[in-house]
Amino acid sequence: MSVEIYNNLPVPAEGEAIQAGDGRILVPDRPIIPFIEGDGTGPDIWRAARQVFDAAVGQAYGGQRQVVWYEVFAGEKAFNHFNVWLPQDTLNAIQRFHVAIKGPLTTPVGGGIRSLNVSLRQLLDLYVCMRPVRYFPGVPSPVKQPEALNVVIFRENTEDVYAGIEWQAGTPQARKVTGFLNAEMNTRIDPESAIGIKPMSARASKRLIRRAIQYALDGGHRSVTLVHKGNIMKFTEGAFRDWGYDLVREEFSGVCVTEAEAGGAGAAGKLLIKDRIADSMFQQVLLRPAEYDVIATPNLNGDYLSDACAAQVGGLGMAPGANIGDAHGVFEATHGTAPKYAGKDVINPSSVILSGVMMFEFMGWKEAARLIEHGITETIRQKRVTYDLHRLMEGARQLKTSEFAAAIVENMRAHQAAA
Ligand code: NAP
Repeated sequence: MSVEIYNNLPVPAEGEAIQAGDGRILVPDRPIIPFIEGDGTGPDIWRAARQVFDAAVGQAYGGQRQVVWYEVFAGEKAFNHFNVWLPQDTLNAIQRFHVAIKGPLTTPVGGGIRSLNVSLRQLLDLYVCMRPVRYFPGVPSPVKQPEALNVVIFRENTEDVYAGIEWQAGTPQARKVTGFLNAEMNTRIDPESAIGIKPMSARASKRLIRRAIQYALDGGHRSVTLVHKGNIMKFTEGAFRDWGYDLVREEFSGVCVTEAEAGGAGAAGKLLIKDRIADSMFQQVLLRPAEYDVIATPNLNGDYLSDACAAQVGGLGMAPGANIGDAHGVFEATHGTAPKYAGKDVINPSSVILSGVMMFEFMGWKEAARLIEHGITETIRQKRVTYDLHRLMEGARQLKTSEFAAAIVENMRAHQAAA
């Protein structure tokens, strides 16, 4: 049998590829998972995260399962090895193996560089950007009751103003578009304006909302909130809300109830579907966070809301993220490369570790996911933390990146032994 090779590295013979069919993935006991170590502090946090992942899988499945890691390259490491920031082989390998995890990457200054996230999103149709936001007891937070916020944000990942369709002010293209709009569409736009386009379709909105509702039903969540700015942008954001309610009627009528249908009577065991206007939602997550659970929202709202929520629980540096399609998932640290700490073994690896929790959930390896969550929660509760949390927590003990990972593994082991 011929050996598969990407970026000059043979695929490990001891693993098997994850397969996909009927919109589901089928995960073998020894799946090959490509990883991108990342730039700057990427190697520090990847080393720590991998130690935690391997220990969690080993402990949860008693040796029956094991991740077979396979390095693929992007960013500075790719540039140094192959003279290109994003090799086509890296994209091909992630497409082939369905699930991948990445550390942060340097964004090279200057144009003409393909972005990994944009390339992967287009190639693999990763239409959901998923950001769970929850509080870990002990983490310093700017609000009085950070534990009241526990949401999972499903942000549409392919449309909206992020589609990248825009023209610079004063260019012939921008003048052509404003000329057409003023002449044919009865608008009065300053011809010297910059122009951006906000496309939103029923197809992309519904598949995102369907994913959020299915996730909420599978996980026994209480509600899904559609967050939009439909009072102003009626035919885009307003349509997002309307398409969401259409979808509920078409596909989920037996298991969901809308807020209008429920009145004040409660959801009676069904999943409650509600909607909120985006600006009011920013107040709501601060003032009445406990009323929100799963959130589905267009691209731009989701970008703002996920960072605002993460800041509220004090966890911007600990916030995990994933880009997900029907048959692919790419999991990633949401912070940057923090280059001044590179190689110092001090940075907080929680963002990549929690992205790994999402990865194991996506793979159906829930026992490993729960174990890691327990390990990290317990370690922070014991006030054994990296420098970033240490400087804000009273009475905490400062650990190196590698020591923090070892403490998580120790707490997972103690939990398994007690169980
Ligand atoms: P950054 O790397 O996120 O770092 C900014 C600051 O945030 C750090 O100096 C540190 O603050 C804190 N921080 C970030 N990650 C941390 C962690 N794991 N643990 C503890 N503290 C952490 O942002 P940047 O300096 O603006 O960007 C550096 C490079 O990363 C740029 O090339 C940028 O384009 C790239 N970037 C990549 C991604 C990605 O790949 N997803 C995302 C954003 C940025 P203190 O100095 O206060 O300790």
